[in-house]
Amino acid sequence: MHGVDATVARDALDVRALREDFPILRRVVDGKPLIYLDNAATSQKPRAVIDALVRYYEEYNANIHRGVHTLGQQATDAYEQVREKVARFIHAPDPAGVVFTRNTTEAINIVASAWGRRYIREGDEILVSEMEHHSNLVPWQLLARDVGARIRAIPVTAEGTLDLSSVETLLSPRTRLVAVVHVSNVLGTINPVRRLADLAHRQGALILVDGAQSVPHLPVDVQEVGCDFIAFSSHKMLGPTGVGVLYASPSLLEQMDVYQGGGSMIRQVTLDHSTWAPVPTRFEAGTPSIADAIALGAAIDYLGGLGMANVRAHEIDLTRYALGALGSIPEVRLYGPADPLARGGVISFNFADVHPHDVGTVLDSEGIAIRAGHHCCQPLMRRLGAAATVRASFYVYNTHKEVDALVRALARVKELFGVGVRCALP
Ligand code: PMP
Repeated sequence: MHGVDATVARDALDVRALREDFPILRRVVDGKPLIYLDNAATSQKPRAVIDALVRYYEEYNANIHRGVHTLGQQATDAYEQVREKVARFIHAPDPAGVVFTRNTTEAINIVASAWGRRYIREGDEILVSEMEHHSNLVPWQLLARDVGARIRAIPVTAEGTLDLSSVETLLSPRTRLVAVVHVSNVLGTINPVRRLADLAHRQGALILVDGAQSVPHLPVDVQEVGCDFIAFSSHKMLGPTGVGVLYASPSLLEQMDVYQGGGSMIRQVTLDHSTWAPVPTRFEAGTPSIADAIALGAAIDYLGGLGMANVRAHEIDLTRYALGALGSIPEVRLYGPADPLARGGVISFNFADVHPHDVGTVLDSEGIAIRAGHHCCQPLMRRLGAAATVRASFYVYNTHKEVDALVRALARVKELFGVGVRCALP
């Protein structure tokens, strides 16, 4: 899957060496070394990314696309080079299809607003799934509310995969868009986006892929995926907050309405009329997050240096190890596919009937950062019959030892809460 040999051993990455690149990993929390297992929320940043931010501000801070001066030119060149880097990273044929946004959420909102309001009409349908993050659900709800369209959802099976058997009946000539997550931020499930793209296209619909949890962790080739739109965030892939990406072919971007009006996105302005700049700048009104985009380039270089196939192999190995270790604890109820090859490095679970926030608090006192809650996936939580889950999520710097520490800390949860084994573990 994704060009990765499933048998690749645990040393796909030199984790001990690369941990030295992440200053924050030297932190101590509550007297214990930090164990950061909240990477699905946001990743940590290597020194190269932090340095790129500092270098921009210290050496060539200037606004882009306008200045005739040296600094403005250097900033513009650096910003535009990252557009090319992003395109290469996702194997996009044309950097002019790379729109810098604030994050995944804004990228999806741009599509809902600038594409959706132009092409989705009353009675049309938007097909999402039950495992969508709110950011790939609420923008469609707002659109559907305003134009009179209808949202339909691909159900999630008991194994935590999409019920593909239902897709053909859910797709209809009224379907204009399929909007699905590539890798679930709760279940870790890797969805068959190529298959969904083919099914969508056969019905004349477009497909948007929420790549927030896939682009940082798997080799993603947008041409192989066959998606019309893909959205992802820099901050989950070792880059800074404040910048994300929407990718679509330039011809599709051309067919869209504009999103926000203002500086940079125009060609000519009179008092009562404006014409638009070429894509993708047409979608980048105002001053963008210049420093953050430039530092995203440093993050892409860093990931490229590791090799995305190695990143993926490392996460398969950690996920396999963690699923084995957590699965042997009777109080742990795991969610999502059992096969580590079918999922990314995200593991959600519950510990008997201890509230996930209590589990999180005990783990924090052991220096372990995980996330507890609904993970912005309330419909999925309803489907799982859980109000919340504990979520551990891995990245390049995580180790087997850290998984062992998580398992030990769960024993501490058991001691503190004196829990018995819940009988109804499915
Ligand atoms: N989709 C998925 C699958 C996510 O995991 C997230 C972040 N948790 C988002 C969308 C939203 O990302 P952002 O907050 O960076 O816009």
